[in-house]
Formats: sequence, structure tokens, C-alpha cells
Amino acid sequence: MGTTTSHHVVTLGTAGGPRFWRNSSRKGIATAVVVDDGFYLVDCGHGVGRQLERAGLSMKDLRGVFITHLHSDHTVDLNTIGLFGLYDMDNARGEGIPIIGPGDRGALPPVSPRATQEPQPIAPHDPTPGTRTMFRKLMEAYATDLNDRILDALRPSPLDLFDAQDIAIPDSAGFHPNDQPTPRMSPFEVFRDDHVIVTATLVEHPPVAPAFAFRFETAQGSVAISGDTTYTPNMVEMAQDAGLILHEAIDFGFIESLYAGKDDDVSRASLDHHYKSHTSVEDAVRLAREAGAARLALHHLVPGFETSEEWRKIAHHFEGEFLIPNDLDVIPFGG
Ligand SMILES: [Zn+2]
Ligand SMILES: [Zn+2]
Repeated sequence: MGTTTSHHVVTLGTAGGPRFWRNSSRKGIATAVVVDDGFYLVDCGHGVGRQLERAGLSMKDLRGVFITHLHSDHTVDLNTIGLFGLYDMDNARGEGIPIIGPGDRGALPPVSPRATQEPQPIAPHDPTPGTRTMFRKLMEAYATDLNDRILDALRPSPLDLFDAQDIAIPDSAGFHPNDQPTPRMSPFEVFRDDHVIVTATLVEHPPVAPAFAFRFETAQGSVAISGDTTYTPNMVEMAQDAGLILHEAIDFGFIESLYAGKDDDVSRASLDHHYKSHTSVEDAVRLAREAGAARLALHHLVPGFETSEEWRKIAHHFEGEFLIPNDLDVIPFGG
């Protein structure tokens, strides 16, 4: 990569959801934002390590990791990033590569009124860890392996190579994980270096909270990445005049077919959940139009086994460039 390369994203993985979609070539959700001679990683879905290699991206050029929210389909290979770094990354740099994501939820979600007995949470002493604690615990789970390598092979510790941080939501936003998970707010800065300014805003993905979208602003242009969310005005504001919006999308025709003929409470609740927490293709197009974006690309595709041609059949007209990428596609966002 040289400085003449135009700024672009690489869609490392484009499938959404915690399932391994049968007959799908799409890997778990992950995106590289390539700027000048380095890159930033947004989300660490299943297969991200191998996909970075296939994209020709070296861990040496990684400048930051951004996690939209703590659902497992976005974090399952965060451990891979932590562990692979030992072999490629320079530990003489002094400060760790930032891993920036949601903080501790602060409270468990309410128990469903359908519960017939009290559900028992995992790790009741620390039931809602944020990004910083999650990364430390992931690395501690590999302590036997890591300590061999640190003591015997003199490899660097991933806890030195990386600096996991929780995003501090401005108090003025009035965020509360259960009572007000997506207050109307303006984007706020979460990271800055010589190449990019990264801002975040709260999006609507209940019961997950906080859930963020990110925008990368560079000298050549900008890209806004939705994370998981239903249509929200916070995202419209964040994506204003972006060179590229990468937005999640769900095929509600497929979801409806899963629950066809079922009108029991649990099926209805599952269906409701998808409508409250995800975005139709139609709404993604509406959002891109309202934001005045030049390009819209859909990712985090649910179901992950549908091909780009099948997605195009349910696509709505968009005045700008409209893409439904496969894994490892390159999409420019520079001017
Ligand atoms: Zn997801
Ligand atoms: Zn999610």
C-alpha cells in the first residue's frame, strides 16, 4: 500500500447473525477501513484473521480496532486478533493499538415476562463486562499458552500490544441501557490520529446497549458504518453527506417465512425483535437518501446464504451508487 492508494473499505465478512449460514461463502461481519498506508478494523466476526490475510492486509499496518456492540457475531474472533498480533506486530512501538468498543452495560436487561422460573445469568459477579474487561478476560483464558510464549519465546504480551478501551458516552446524551438505550444525540469523537477522526453515535439494537455506529473522516472522504440497528435518525445525522454508507440489512421476507403459520407468543416475540433491532433494504435506502450519501453498500446480510444477485432482487431504487458486496470486495470512499 502506498499513499497514492485511494481510501477504501474491504468487506472482510458480510454475513450477519450468530449462525453459520449453510451454503454460504460469506464470513462473519468484519470490515477493514484502509487509509494511506494503514488500516482500521471494524468488528471481528468469525474468520477475520484469515480474511485479513486473504485481503493482503498485515497486522503490522493495523492502527485500531473498533467494536460496534458486544454481540458474539461481532466479537467472536477478537481473541484471534489478540493472539495473532504476537507474530506480526512490533512491540517496540511503546503504546498499544487501541481496541475501542462499548463499556460495561451497567445493568442486566429485564427478565422476560414469559419466564416461568428465574433465569440464572452467567457470571453473576460481573454479568455485563465491557470491551476492556472482555479483552483482558479473553487473553487470560489463554494464559497457559501466552505465558509459554512470553517467558520462553520472549514474545510480546497482547496486553501490551493492544490497549482495550471502553467508549465513554457523554453524560449529556442521557443514555440508560434499559430506560433510554438510544436517546437522540449528535455524533461524538472517540478516536483521532494523523489519518482519521472517528466519531460514534448510539444506534437502536435492543436489548443490546450501548450499540454504536462509527464514521471515519479522512482527508479524502468519509465512510459511515451502521453496526446493528433499526432505522434511526441518529444514523441519518451521522451519515450526512458520507462518501459511503455501509449499512446492515435483513430480508424480512425470509424472517417472515421462518415464522409463517406460527402465532405463539415466543414466535411473535422473535419476529418483533427483528423488526425492532434490524433494518429492511427499503429503510436502508431511505436512510442513505435522507443522508445525501454518494454510495450505499449493504452488509451484515441476514440470511447470509443469499447471494448478491438474490439481494438485488429485493433492492429499492437509490439515486447514488448501490452495492451489495461479497466478501473481500473493495469499495472506495475517497473523493
Ligand atoms: Zn450482528
Ligand atoms: Zn447485533
